[in-house]
Amino acid sequence: MGTRETGVLLFSLAFASCSSSTSTSNPYSPSTTKVILEVDYATGAAPYTGPVGGRGDLWSLFESNAQRLFQGKQLEIPHDLDHMEELTDVAAGDYTADQILQIASKHRATASSGSSIAYYVVWLPGYFNDGTEVNKAVLGVNLGSSGVIAMFKPVILSSSGTPLIQKYVEQSTLIHEFGHVVGLVNKGIPLTSAHHDAANGAHCTNTDCVMYWLNEGAADAVKFIEKRATESTTVLFADDCLADVDAVTK
Ligand SMILES: [Zn+2]
Ligand SMILES: [Zn+2]
Repeated sequence: MGTRETGVLLFSLAFASCSSSTSTSNPYSPSTTKVILEVDYATGAAPYTGPVGGRGDLWSLFESNAQRLFQGKQLEIPHDLDHMEELTDVAAGDYTADQILQIASKHRATASSGSSIAYYVVWLPGYFNDGTEVNKAVLGVNLGSSGVIAMFKPVILSSSGTPLIQKYVEQSTLIHEFGHVVGLVNKGIPLTSAHHDAANGAHCTNTDCVMYWLNEGAADAVKFIEKRATESTTVLFADDCLADVDAVTK
């Protein structure tokens, strides 16, 4: 279990201690009025989209969670493939953090500027290479201050034999990684209570929170989803994490 998190920890840089040349502004500042998520996907690794029988539009789950973090701000989040870009030059394989950042630097089209802040997520047809080994249990990673998230479609597909569960695992993973890039847990946003599972990285001690560390791995993500995500507007962050966010949102 330790190795699963190793790669994630290695690249976990708080946005407050930005060490790259990418300027990352504070998403919680009142001067940030718009939050953008740019979505790309490699051929063969498209995210699930569209309505989920009786539960509304699938991407409403991510949008509802992002809206809860950034109350009062405008969100620009795609909900269908027409508003996401297919990348035809990304081969199936394993990807190191550097390779993911290379894909992002080649294809990322939306920059943060002035009152808007942009994040980038790319869906990949392969697995995460943490620099030591290929880890087939990692659903997604965030590359710290770059604002880049990668999603590993084969892991999502293998998480469950039930497409409905796969869809919610995918959304939940995106919400988890997004939580990291916007400062959770204790990864840029100060704690307001003792819920930081420091032994496992920038994670939450609350097993019912999307930021619980095992929710980044396929097996536990399924259990979490079966317990928590029953409709497309469910907020998957538990109260402790939301309190941290609310404390920096003045
Ligand atoms: Zn995590
Ligand atoms: Zn939490």
